[in-house]
Amino acid sequence: MTIKSADIDYDKYIFYNEFQRIQPSQSMVRPDLEMYWVTSIEPSQSSLIIKLIKQKFQYTTGQTKHLKRFKKKLDVEKHVILDVAICPTSDIDEDKLREILKEGLNVQNISLLKTEIPTNKPFDRELNMEWSKRYWPLVWKGNPMVQELHESFKLFSRDTTMKYLEEISDISEKSTKDVPVVTMFVDPRTDTVKSIQEDERCDEDPMKHSIMCCIDDIAKKELKRRQLVKDDKEINSYLCLNYDVYTTHEPCTMCAMALLHSRIGRLIYIEESPVTGAIGEKSGCRYMIHISCTLNWKYECFRYMGNALPKRRIDPLVQI
Ligand SMILES: [Zn+2]
Repeated sequence: MTIKSADIDYDKYIFYNEFQRIQPSQSMVRPDLEMYWVTSIEPSQSSLIIKLIKQKFQYTTGQTKHLKRFKKKLDVEKHVILDVAICPTSDIDEDKLREILKEGLNVQNISLLKTEIPTNKPFDRELNMEWSKRYWPLVWKGNPMVQELHESFKLFSRDTTMKYLEEISDISEKSTKDVPVVTMFVDPRTDTVKSIQEDERCDEDPMKHSIMCCIDDIAKKELKRRQLVKDDKEINSYLCLNYDVYTTHEPCTMCAMALLHSRIGRLIYIEESPVTGAIGEKSGCRYMIHISCTLNWKYECFRYMGNALPKRRIDPLVQI
């Protein structure tokens, strides 16, 4: 499958202009700049500065893996001078840093300036070169996030996704329930619907959110199946393993956790729940439960951003 770059927005992680992959927003198109202290040295001082960085600024190696420490330049007399990125300016004040450099380099005059440096990686080699020229020399070893995004894109079918979203949206629109939320579990390997449920909460059972109803329904069906089939070789302890879940509204913490426990593969929702949601970067308590990785499992999430589906608003304080 060839990927057309117009189909992926590398800035906001959107497929086909309509499906936003929910992940921490770190652009691969725009540089996130941070101010760094930069000092200029003679090439003969480079081993001293490397030693000094190891002693005093070792902690910066993790955050500077994508940077080159040194930037070559020529002074007015065409002598080679090296600019060295030390650390973010927010880490240490100027006087203190001057003292450290004076002692470490064994010189009296220290040149110190502030330079903006990209803290994120661009999505391709060309942009890497552009940022290197404009800001600071960057190392290029590819960007693993691009790889992840491409893998995700290859497995994403716009037609299949829209087909199921239209179906649940339709049921939600006609629903007379107090909370018109609809969820559908699909096994993507066979493209079969495993369960489709509406919200069933009531005074006796306020936990019957539509996702919980689906999980419950699938468990009951499996129990029945196991009672009928003896000597089953297909027993799988995760009944919803790698399933796709389509739901009309961003789920609450309980449901998002239940999906994690069930080891689903993907969640696709239509409407955001800014107050009670547990998925969106800015939703609720900002948990982003699908990638918070406490259970050694993650699932992908997408939010539908298009206008082709009617949206049913629900009181923002209601847990979905
Ligand atoms: Zn819920």
